[in-house]
Amino acid sequence: MSKTSPRPLTPDVTSALESLRADAVRRNAGEPEFHQALDEVLESLGPVLSARPELLDVLRRLVEPERQIIFRVPWQDDAGATHVNRGFRVEFNSALGPYKGGLRFHPSVNLGVVKFLGFEQIFKNALTGLNMGGGKGGSDFDPHGRSDAEVMRFCQSFMTELYRHLGEHTDVPAGDIGVGGREIGYLFGQYRRITNRWEAGVLTGKGTGWGGSPVRVEATGYGNVLFAAEMLAQRGEDLEGQQVVVSGSGNVALYSMEKAQALGAHVLTASDSSGYVVDEKGIDLDLLKQVKEVERGRVADYAERRGASARFVPGGRVWDVPADLALPSATQNELDAEAALALIRGGVKAVSEGANMPCTPEAVRLFREAGVALGPGKAANAGGVATSGLEMRQNAARSAWTFADVEARLAAIMRDIHATVHETAEIHGAPGDYVLGANIAGFQRVAEAMDAQGII
Ligand code: NDP
Repeated sequence: MSKTSPRPLTPDVTSALESLRADAVRRNAGEPEFHQALDEVLESLGPVLSARPELLDVLRRLVEPERQIIFRVPWQDDAGATHVNRGFRVEFNSALGPYKGGLRFHPSVNLGVVKFLGFEQIFKNALTGLNMGGGKGGSDFDPHGRSDAEVMRFCQSFMTELYRHLGEHTDVPAGDIGVGGREIGYLFGQYRRITNRWEAGVLTGKGTGWGGSPVRVEATGYGNVLFAAEMLAQRGEDLEGQQVVVSGSGNVALYSMEKAQALGAHVLTASDSSGYVVDEKGIDLDLLKQVKEVERGRVADYAERRGASARFVPGGRVWDVPADLALPSATQNELDAEAALALIRGGVKAVSEGANMPCTPEAVRLFREAGVALGPGKAANAGGVATSGLEMRQNAARSAWTFADVEARLAAIMRDIHATVHETAEIHGAPGDYVLGANIAGFQRVAEAMDAQGII
């Protein structure tokens, strides 16, 4: 990332942005993740708003979700005890297409978390060039340690309320943390049962035998590594021989590792909420997939079975391992200032966000000052939702494309996103600032559509 600053703002725009932010914070009190996501976007939009102050009115509408749904999700565990969780769907913006964004099942889910994710999703979806609006949902349900039958009952109860808000032209959820192929299957089954419709386009991330797209499982991780490769190419480098640290060991992490290894990189780490594994010989992906995807185990189990080359560090963070490239792929705010300094000391050249908002604002600032290329999640992890968009296209046409075809389309989309973001940053006086480029390019596409569609 360049140390150049974007062009200065006019005083009018500065004060309008300050009052818009104060208003949004007051109306969304107690939602720090949403405030953080908002700040990051607002800080980037000065140059475009200085040139076109009339878009401030669009921005005022954009920061308010079109609809927010909160509902009770009662379910019974295997012992017959009743549990009550809370379900959320924030339908943030539909100017470019049906609301689109994943469902997260994790105990930390609350309205502010869903709102931050939904807000980011608007710009991410715009960057893909496809016609998808932004939304996100989930529940504070924790699938860890639950049987398949319990997860099924929870998903059925969740969908029994959510179904009335969904539709292939209305709102199309997918997976996120805690929601993978198993959960999408149970959710789709219940939707089909309640509505008596085979409406494949209502959910993405389906099994490939019943309406899912090839590459959707791999897409977020693959896309993130392709984005990282584009950033490295700007420095005249490729992934061959690069040392890579990856956090997480879920969907995004596993398929980031797979693509990084395929491009010749040496992947050193994996993690979960209990700690991390560092493997000097490089992560054995077949073993890690067996432990995580098949057995639903922990990274500590991987270390135990891998032998002498791997070490489990309880409670530790992968950022202490020196590397050329860092791929945060677990959760928000997992990479703070201390971690950024450790990575910079270790010689990191690029950070590409597989997770949503994994870097704290201080970490982003430190990377910017150190000239480390930072691919923001909105751009770098957009391959997942882009491939969901391709799944929706196949569903609408009642057709099925090959793995190679979808992978080629994903690669083209990631190259386009990189080019758009890179060029937008340059046009606005901040060459190499991918954060600014992604925010401005995403905003411009949505704002033009909202402006054209009138005050609604
Ligand atoms: P998974 O549930 O498959 O995996 C999540 C991984 O992150 C697990 O290893 C989990 O460990 C770890 N993790 C989650 N929460 C925490 C936490 N609070 N503290 C420490 N570790 C944590 O999720 P995904 O791989 O799908 O998602 C990962 C990230 O990527 C999220 O930020 C998500 O929003 C983002 N993303 C996902 C997309 C997708 O297509 N799936 C698309 C775009 C972005 P543990 O099991 O111990 O909780």
